[in-house]
Amino acid sequence: LKAIFASVDALLRRLSAREATKERAQLLLSELPQAANEKELASIIDRAAELVRDCVEQLTRERVSAAALLTEVTSRLGDFARYIASDRSDFAESFAAGESLNVQVLSDVQQLSNEAQSATDLAPLRRLISARVDSISRQVQDFRERESTRFRAHSERATKLSHQVSELTQRTQALESELASERQRALLDALTGIANRAAFDERLREEIARRARGGQPVSLLYWDIDHFKSINDRYGHAAGDRVLREVANCLMSRMRSSDFIARMGGEEFVSLLMNTPGSGALKAADELRQAVAGLRMHFRGTPVTVTISCGVTEIEAGDSADATIDRADKALYRAKDSGRNACIAA
Ligand code: GH3
Ligand code: MG
Ligand code: MG
Repeated sequence: LKAIFASVDALLRRLSAREATKERAQLLLSELPQAANEKELASIIDRAAELVRDCVEQLTRERVSAAALLTEVTSRLGDFARYIASDRSDFAESFAAGESLNVQVLSDVQQLSNEAQSATDLAPLRRLISARVDSISRQVQDFRERESTRFRAHSERATKLSHQVSELTQRTQALESELASERQRALLDALTGIANRAAFDERLREEIARRARGGQPVSLLYWDIDHFKSINDRYGHAAGDRVLREVANCLMSRMRSSDFIARMGGEEFVSLLMNTPGSGALKAADELRQAVAGLRMHFRGTPVTVTISCGVTEIEAGDSADATIDRADKALYRAKDSGRNACIAA
């Protein structure tokens, strides 16, 4: 039953990290320690299941609306492609019309010149010239009218298109920044504001690859708060949460800015120290451990000290992520076994 309580507790904590289910999950979290029998626990589990369903529904809605925008972008792109094709055929038509005008005018002029050479009287020649010039100017006039109609239609379409493009650009930019902040949120731990496990997994993979390419040494510190359960039991979850924030803050503020720290879940944290071999990392870890032990917190008027234990290991060439974490975890167990408030290197 204890294990079930812990699993429900962990599930509710994850649900309270999501905006849509935050309040209801926190309410269930506060009811959980009071559940006295299996029936009451089952009722909490039922309500937790409802929250999970709500989450799934919300995710589905978000996916559907993103898919709708994508469909619209695709259809607009189709419009653009058709517009460009019709624009090209317009241009070809306009070019052909200009050519045919040219041919017509040239032939009129040619004919006029032939007639002028063979003409003997001035009067008929004058009539002839006037008729030919009329014909040429009619053709030029027709040509100009057709071209200006074409031009008007073209510029109307171009204006409409440019509005559509800017509207679409705005909407995709909005979606892009929404996705960027969603991604940012997805990589942060909601309680402490530091990186979460997903962000750590990604970063560890990068550091392992860098090490494999012959980069500088990097060490991994696996932290676990000592007897954390008793802080929750004695002073309540809110106090426990505050301890998590204070410890995260203490570790983060004392590490170099190029180092990395994440909350792995529960009361466990993990740090990556750049350019640091195992021996240096053990020294650094021990200084961090002392800083945490020196934190002064008060709950219900009582001063409370918190200690933390750490397993230290350097990433070795050929290490997998699991192998590295496993080594650090084993060292952490030895630190716990040695009496806690200790750092041990593997
Ligand atoms: P040890 O020294 O061996 O590490 O003992 P411990 O009590 O720290 O370890 P244990 O794993 O038994 O207890 C961890 C507790 O942390 C149990 C769980 O309810 C609590 N916990 C996990 N996540 C959170 C959280 O987000 N907030 C609070 N307040 N408690 C949490
Ligand atoms: Mg633990
Ligand atoms: Mg612990």
